[in-house]
Amino acid sequence: MFTSIKGRSVIVTGASKGIGRGIANVFALQGAKVMVVARGEEEAKATVDEIRSKKGIAEMQLCDVTDWEAVEEMVTATESEFGSVDILCANAGIFPQTKIFEMDPEEWDQVMKTNLKSAFLCVKACIPQFKKKRNGRIILTSSITGPVTAYPGWSHYGASKSGQLGFMKTAAMELSKYGTTINAVLPGNIFTEGLQDLGQDYLDSMAATIPLKRLGVVEDIGNAALFFASDEASYITGQTLIVDGGQILPESLEAIEEI
Ligand code: NAP
Repeated sequence: MFTSIKGRSVIVTGASKGIGRGIANVFALQGAKVMVVARGEEEAKATVDEIRSKKGIAEMQLCDVTDWEAVEEMVTATESEFGSVDILCANAGIFPQTKIFEMDPEEWDQVMKTNLKSAFLCVKACIPQFKKKRNGRIILTSSITGPVTAYPGWSHYGASKSGQLGFMKTAAMELSKYGTTINAVLPGNIFTEGLQDLGQDYLDSMAATIPLKRLGVVEDIGNAALFFASDEASYITGQTLIVDGGQILPESLEAIEEI
Protein backbone atom coordinates (compact mmCIF):
# COMPACT_ATOMS: atom_id res chain seq x y z
CA MET A 1 0.00 0.00 0.00
CA PHE A 2 1.45 3.36 -1.04
CA THR A 3 1.38 6.44 1.21
CA SER A 4 -1.46 8.73 0.19
CA ILE A 5 -0.61 11.89 -1.74
CA LYS A 6 -3.89 13.45 -0.59
CA GLY A 7 -3.58 17.21 -0.13
CA ARG A 8 -0.34 17.55 -2.10
CA SER A 9 -0.16 20.25 -4.71
CA VAL A 10 0.68 19.29 -8.29
CA ILE A 11 1.24 21.35 -11.42
CA VAL A 12 0.45 19.48 -14.64
CA THR A 13 1.43 21.30 -17.82
CA GLY A 14 -0.46 20.41 -20.99
CA ALA A 15 -3.33 19.18 -18.81
CA SER A 16 -6.10 20.40 -21.09
CA LYS A 17 -5.83 17.36 -23.34
CA GLY A 18 -4.43 13.89 -23.78
CA ILE A 19 -1.76 12.57 -21.45
CA GLY A 20 -1.71 15.70 -19.29
CA ARG A 21 -5.43 15.45 -18.75
CA GLY A 22 -4.96 11.80 -17.79
CA ILE A 23 -2.18 12.67 -15.32
CA ALA A 24 -4.35 15.44 -13.81
CA ASN A 25 -7.27 13.04 -13.35
CA VAL A 26 -5.13 10.28 -11.82
CA PHE A 27 -3.61 12.69 -9.26
CA ALA A 28 -6.99 14.31 -8.48
CA LEU A 29 -8.53 10.90 -7.88
CA GLN A 30 -5.86 10.32 -5.20
CA GLY A 31 -6.84 13.60 -3.48
CA ALA A 32 -4.06 15.84 -4.81
CA LYS A 33 -4.77 19.53 -5.55
CA VAL A 34 -4.21 19.93 -9.29
CA MET A 35 -3.19 23.07 -11.18
CA VAL A 36 -4.27 22.51 -14.79
CA VAL A 37 -1.93 24.38 -17.14
CA ALA A 38 -2.36 25.01 -20.88
CA ARG A 39 -2.84 27.92 -23.29
CA GLY A 40 -6.38 27.19 -24.46
CA GLU A 41 -8.98 28.31 -21.91
CA GLU A 42 -11.96 26.26 -23.03
CA GLU A 43 -10.19 22.91 -22.94
CA ALA A 44 -8.33 23.69 -19.68
CA LYS A 45 -11.66 24.56 -18.09
CA ALA A 46 -13.11 21.27 -19.36
CA THR A 47 -10.38 19.37 -17.46
CA VAL A 48 -11.07 21.39 -14.30
CA ASP A 49 -14.82 20.75 -14.64
CA GLU A 50 -14.21 17.03 -15.19
CA ILE A 51 -12.08 16.79 -12.02
CA ARG A 52 -14.55 18.83 -9.95
CA SER A 53 -17.46 16.70 -11.19
CA LYS A 54 -15.69 13.74 -9.56
CA LYS A 55 -15.26 15.77 -6.31
CA GLY A 56 -11.58 16.43 -7.01
CA ILE A 57 -9.72 19.69 -6.42
CA ALA A 58 -8.50 21.62 -9.47
CA GLU A 59 -7.76 25.16 -10.59
CA MET A 60 -6.43 26.37 -13.92
CA GLN A 61 -3.68 28.70 -15.03
CA LEU A 62 -3.39 29.72 -18.65
CA CYS A 63 0.30 29.71 -19.51
CA ASP A 64 2.55 29.31 -22.52
CA VAL A 65 5.34 27.12 -21.10
CA THR A 66 7.87 28.66 -23.51
CA ASP A 67 7.43 32.06 -21.81
CA TRP A 68 9.58 32.50 -18.67
CA GLU A 69 7.42 35.21 -17.09
CA ALA A 70 4.26 33.18 -17.66
CA VAL A 71 5.93 30.11 -16.12
CA GLU A 72 6.98 32.12 -13.04
CA GLU A 73 3.41 33.36 -12.77
CA MET A 74 2.16 29.75 -13.02
CA VAL A 75 4.19 28.83 -9.91
CA THR A 76 3.16 31.99 -8.01
CA ALA A 77 -0.50 31.31 -8.79
CA THR A 78 -0.19 27.69 -7.63
CA GLU A 79 1.44 28.72 -4.37
CA SER A 80 -1.22 31.32 -3.64
CA GLU A 81 -4.03 28.90 -4.55
CA PHE A 82 -2.73 25.73 -2.85
CA GLY A 83 -0.04 27.01 -0.41
CA SER A 84 2.92 25.27 -2.09
CA VAL A 85 4.08 23.26 -5.07
CA ASP A 86 4.93 19.68 -4.13
CA ILE A 87 4.98 17.98 -7.53
CA LEU A 88 5.67 19.21 -11.06
CA CYS A 89 4.57 17.17 -14.06
CA ALA A 90 6.24 18.87 -17.03
CA ASN A 91 4.21 17.26 -19.77
CA ALA A 92 3.24 19.90 -22.38
CA GLY A 93 4.61 19.08 -25.80
CA ILE A 94 4.04 19.20 -29.56
CA PHE A 95 4.91 16.72 -32.29
CA PRO A 96 4.58 18.14 -35.81
CA GLN A 97 5.83 15.60 -38.33
CA THR A 98 8.17 17.01 -41.01
CA LYS A 99 11.16 15.43 -42.71
CA ILE A 100 14.52 17.21 -42.29
CA PHE A 101 14.77 18.32 -45.93
CA GLU A 102 11.36 20.02 -45.74
CA MET A 103 11.66 21.43 -42.21
CA ASP A 104 11.81 25.20 -41.63
CA PRO A 105 14.41 26.18 -39.03
CA GLU A 106 11.55 27.96 -37.21
CA GLU A 107 9.72 24.64 -36.76
CA TRP A 108 12.86 23.12 -35.23
CA ASP A 109 13.06 26.03 -32.77
CA GLN A 110 9.37 25.80 -31.86
CA VAL A 111 9.63 22.09 -31.03
CA MET A 112 12.79 22.64 -28.99
CA LYS A 113 11.23 25.55 -27.11
CA THR A 114 7.98 23.77 -26.36
CA ASN A 115 9.36 20.35 -25.46
CA LEU A 116 12.85 21.00 -24.06
CA LYS A 117 13.31 24.63 -23.01
CA SER A 118 9.93 24.50 -21.25
CA ALA A 119 11.17 21.64 -19.05
CA PHE A 120 14.11 23.80 -17.97
CA LEU A 121 11.84 26.83 -17.37
CA CYS A 122 9.26 24.88 -15.33
CA VAL A 123 11.92 23.14 -13.22
CA LYS A 124 13.79 26.41 -12.63
CA ALA A 125 10.60 28.19 -11.56
CA CYS A 126 9.68 25.44 -9.07
CA ILE A 127 13.11 25.19 -7.40
CA PRO A 128 12.41 27.89 -4.74
CA GLN A 129 9.33 25.86 -3.70
CA PHE A 130 11.25 22.60 -3.38
CA LYS A 131 14.15 24.37 -1.66
CA LYS A 132 11.82 25.77 0.98
CA LYS A 133 10.31 22.36 1.78
CA ARG A 134 13.51 20.39 1.15
CA ASN A 135 11.26 18.01 -0.72
CA GLY A 136 9.87 17.84 -4.22
CA ARG A 137 9.01 15.62 -7.13
CA ILE A 138 9.44 16.32 -10.83
CA ILE A 139 8.15 14.04 -13.55
CA LEU A 140 8.96 14.77 -17.21
CA THR A 141 6.93 13.31 -20.06
CA SER A 142 9.62 12.28 -22.54
CA SER A 143 8.98 9.63 -25.23
CA ILE A 144 10.36 6.41 -26.64
CA THR A 145 10.85 8.44 -29.86
CA GLY A 146 14.35 9.86 -29.67
CA PRO A 147 15.72 8.16 -26.55
CA VAL A 148 14.99 4.63 -27.86
CA THR A 149 13.35 4.60 -31.29
CA ALA A 150 13.12 6.69 -34.46
CA TYR A 151 10.38 7.68 -36.87
CA PRO A 152 10.75 9.71 -40.12
CA GLY A 153 9.58 13.28 -39.61
CA TRP A 154 10.43 13.45 -35.94
CA SER A 155 14.12 14.40 -35.92
CA HIS A 156 13.39 17.61 -33.98
CA TYR A 157 10.91 15.88 -31.70
CA GLY A 158 13.28 12.97 -31.01
CA ALA A 159 16.13 15.39 -30.30
CA SER A 160 13.94 17.35 -27.87
CA LYS A 161 12.84 14.19 -26.03
CA SER A 162 16.42 12.89 -25.78
CA GLY A 163 17.48 16.37 -24.67
CA GLN A 164 14.99 16.21 -21.80
CA LEU A 165 16.83 13.15 -20.48
CA GLY A 166 20.23 14.84 -20.69
CA PHE A 167 18.80 17.81 -18.79
CA MET A 168 17.18 15.48 -16.24
CA LYS A 169 20.44 13.78 -15.26
CA THR A 170 22.22 17.00 -14.28
CA ALA A 171 19.03 18.35 -12.68
CA ALA A 172 18.83 15.17 -10.57
CA MET A 173 22.28 15.92 -9.18
CA GLU A 174 21.63 19.62 -8.57
CA LEU A 175 18.24 19.03 -6.94
CA SER A 176 19.36 16.20 -4.68
CA LYS A 177 20.44 18.62 -1.95
CA TYR A 178 16.83 19.86 -1.76
CA GLY A 179 15.46 16.35 -1.25
CA THR A 180 13.95 16.58 -4.72
CA THR A 181 13.82 13.88 -7.35
CA ILE A 182 13.35 14.16 -11.10
CA ASN A 183 12.44 11.23 -13.34
CA ALA A 184 10.95 10.73 -16.77
CA VAL A 185 8.15 8.61 -18.16
CA LEU A 186 8.73 7.47 -21.76
CA PRO A 187 5.35 6.78 -23.36
CA GLY A 188 4.97 4.65 -26.43
CA ASN A 189 1.85 5.34 -28.47
CA ILE A 190 -0.90 6.65 -26.22
CA PHE A 191 -4.36 7.37 -27.59
CA THR A 192 -4.76 11.17 -27.32
CA GLU A 193 -6.19 14.06 -29.34
CA GLY A 194 -2.66 14.83 -30.57
CA LEU A 195 -2.12 11.26 -31.74
CA GLN A 196 -5.56 11.09 -33.35
CA ASP A 197 -4.49 14.02 -35.57
CA LEU A 198 -1.91 11.67 -37.16
CA GLY A 199 -4.78 9.70 -38.76
CA GLN A 200 -6.45 6.29 -38.48
CA ASP A 201 -3.84 4.55 -40.70
CA TYR A 202 -1.10 5.61 -38.28
CA LEU A 203 -3.12 4.44 -35.26
CA ASP A 204 -3.94 1.05 -36.85
CA SER A 205 -0.38 0.35 -38.01
CA MET A 206 1.00 1.31 -34.60
CA ALA A 207 -1.42 -0.95 -32.71
CA ALA A 208 -0.35 -3.85 -34.94
CA THR A 209 3.32 -3.45 -33.94
CA ILE A 210 2.67 -3.40 -30.18
CA PRO A 211 2.91 -6.78 -28.39
CA LEU A 212 -0.05 -5.90 -26.15
CA LYS A 213 -1.94 -5.10 -29.41
CA ARG A 214 -3.41 -1.80 -28.33
CA LEU A 215 -2.40 1.80 -27.91
CA GLY A 216 -1.94 2.96 -24.34
CA VAL A 217 -4.52 4.99 -22.46
CA VAL A 218 -3.67 8.28 -20.77
CA GLU A 219 -4.12 6.77 -17.31
CA ASP A 220 -1.22 4.37 -18.06
CA ILE A 221 1.07 7.40 -18.05
CA GLY A 222 -0.75 9.03 -15.13
CA ASN A 223 -0.14 5.95 -12.98
CA ALA A 224 3.57 5.87 -13.84
CA ALA A 225 3.85 9.56 -12.92
CA LEU A 226 1.97 8.87 -9.68
CA PHE A 227 4.52 6.20 -8.78
CA PHE A 228 7.44 8.61 -9.28
CA ALA A 229 5.57 11.18 -7.15
CA SER A 230 5.05 8.75 -4.28
CA ASP A 231 6.99 8.68 -1.00
CA GLU A 232 7.92 5.10 -1.87
CA ALA A 233 9.85 6.32 -4.95
CA SER A 234 11.93 8.78 -2.89
CA TYR A 235 15.23 6.95 -3.60
CA ILE A 236 14.76 6.97 -7.38
CA THR A 237 16.12 9.96 -9.29
CA GLY A 238 17.45 10.65 -12.78
CA GLN A 239 15.74 7.52 -14.12
CA THR A 240 13.34 6.60 -16.91
CA LEU A 241 10.32 4.33 -17.10
CA ILE A 242 9.13 3.10 -20.50
CA VAL A 243 5.35 2.65 -20.72
CA ASP A 244 4.72 1.29 -24.21
CA GLY A 245 2.88 -2.06 -24.16
CA GLY A 246 6.14 -3.74 -25.16
CA GLN A 247 6.47 -1.72 -28.37
CA ILE A 248 10.27 -1.50 -28.31
CA LEU A 249 10.73 -5.27 -27.83
CA PRO A 250 10.22 -6.96 -31.26
CA GLU A 251 13.45 -7.47 -33.19
CA SER A 252 11.68 -7.75 -36.54
CA LEU A 253 8.30 -7.89 -38.28
CA GLU A 254 8.50 -11.70 -38.04
CA ALA A 255 8.90 -11.44 -34.28
CA ILE A 256 5.62 -9.58 -33.93
CA GLU A 257 3.85 -11.95 -36.35
CA GLU A 258 5.00 -14.93 -34.23
CA ILE A 259 2.87 -13.83 -31.29
P1 NAP B 1 -1.90 16.59 -27.01
O1 NAP B 1 -3.10 15.73 -26.92
O2 NAP B 1 -1.65 17.33 -28.28
O3 NAP B 1 -1.91 17.64 -25.79
C1 NAP B 1 -0.86 18.55 -25.65
C2 NAP B 1 -1.08 19.44 -24.44
O4 NAP B 1 0.03 20.35 -24.31
C3 NAP B 1 -2.33 20.29 -24.55
O5 NAP B 1 -2.91 20.44 -23.28
C4 NAP B 1 -1.79 21.64 -25.04
O6 NAP B 1 -2.68 22.68 -24.69
C5 NAP B 1 -0.46 21.70 -24.27
N1 NAP B 1 0.54 22.58 -24.86
C6 NAP B 1 1.12 22.52 -26.10
N2 NAP B 1 1.96 23.55 -26.26
C7 NAP B 1 1.93 24.28 -25.10
C8 NAP B 1 2.56 25.47 -24.67
N3 NAP B 1 3.44 26.15 -25.45
N4 NAP B 1 2.28 25.95 -23.44
C9 NAP B 1 1.41 25.29 -22.63
N5 NAP B 1 0.78 24.16 -22.99
C10 NAP B 1 1.03 23.67 -24.22
O7 NAP B 1 -0.57 15.76 -26.73
P2 NAP B 1 -0.34 14.36 -25.95
O8 NAP B 1 -0.38 13.30 -26.95
O9 NAP B 1 -1.20 14.30 -24.75
O10 NAP B 1 1.18 14.55 -25.51
C11 NAP B 1 1.51 15.06 -24.23
C12 NAP B 1 3.00 14.84 -23.98
O11 NAP B 1 3.28 13.45 -24.09
C13 NAP B 1 3.92 15.54 -24.97
O12 NAP B 1 5.07 16.00 -24.32
C14 NAP B 1 4.25 14.44 -25.95
O13 NAP B 1 5.48 14.65 -26.59
C15 NAP B 1 4.32 13.25 -25.02
N6 NAP B 1 4.14 11.96 -25.69
C16 NAP B 1 2.95 11.62 -26.24
C17 NAP B 1 2.79 10.37 -26.83
C18 NAP B 1 1.49 9.90 -27.40
O14 NAP B 1 1.45 8.78 -27.90
N7 NAP B 1 0.42 10.64 -27.31
C19 NAP B 1 3.89 9.49 -26.90
C20 NAP B 1 5.09 9.87 -26.34
C21 NAP B 1 5.21 11.11 -25.71
P3 NAP B 1 -2.75 24.09 -25.47
O15 NAP B 1 -2.52 23.79 -26.92
O16 NAP B 1 -4.10 24.63 -25.16
O17 NAP B 1 -1.67 24.93 -24.88
